[in-house]
Amino acid sequence: MTISISLPNNITIGGADFTLMAGPCSVESYEQTYAVAKSMNALGLRILRGGAFKPRTSPNAFQGLGLEGLKILRSVADEFNLLVISEVLGVEHIPLVTEYSDIIQIGSRNMQHFPLLWAAGEQPKPILLKRGFMSTISEWLAAAEHIASRGNQKIILCERGIRSFDSSTRNVLDVSAIAQIKETSHFPIIADPSHATGRTDLVPAASRAAIAAGADGLIVEVHPNPKEALSDGDQSLPLESLSAYVDDVKRIVSAMGKKL
Ligand code: PEP
Ligand code: MN
Repeated sequence: MTISISLPNNITIGGADFTLMAGPCSVESYEQTYAVAKSMNALGLRILRGGAFKPRTSPNAFQGLGLEGLKILRSVADEFNLLVISEVLGVEHIPLVTEYSDIIQIGSRNMQHFPLLWAAGEQPKPILLKRGFMSTISEWLAAAEHIASRGNQKIILCERGIRSFDSSTRNVLDVSAIAQIKETSHFPIIADPSHATGRTDLVPAASRAAIAAGADGLIVEVHPNPKEALSDGDQSLPLESLSAYVDDVKRIVSAMGKKL
């Protein structure tokens, strides 16, 4: 039985309500974030994602706007009454990110960063714990227990794809992991079809599969101009596709007896 996590604005994750979080990979500017939030709000989406501290493979890639990015996220979200989810890369980011964000994201590369898990467990905001791209399900659940052991049970798991031999997609969405988590864990689980596939064209199909497997929600990357994105443009939905995407998601969500 999945526990439900209550968030501000009467939002619940893990019950009959399906949650669609969306937003840019990285917060790049006020205008970019505003454009995304405005479209989300028009479609009834309530949780805005955006990285301010970015875990980039190359040190030469855009590393995020840091504090400025958090301020942009918060002010845009407040304008539309949205909640914010943003990532922490280290223990030192926790005070800052918890000040500006409603949900704290721990990324794939940090799934077994134990001091970070402990520190996240010692503060009260909900945590989104992404699956390590080379981690087993039992390692992932053990990481969640590290957080819970420090007192914070408000944990949302996120299947974001695991590494495989086939380079035609960025990762492989482990659909059966979603069904397995529903059987063995009481934490809600959402899926990230953007990082799982790395390809905008595959995001809708991966989303449908995740919902059908029992996911409690999705977190999807959206950008006003993916070609110009400073990170993950190849997997971001352009704003003009968002409405059709949400309709597509809603069809499967209602077939599963849930509501978006
Ligand atoms: C992200 O959400 O932008 C991100 C970096 O995700 P992951 O940790 O799954 O790679
Ligand atoms: Mn990304």
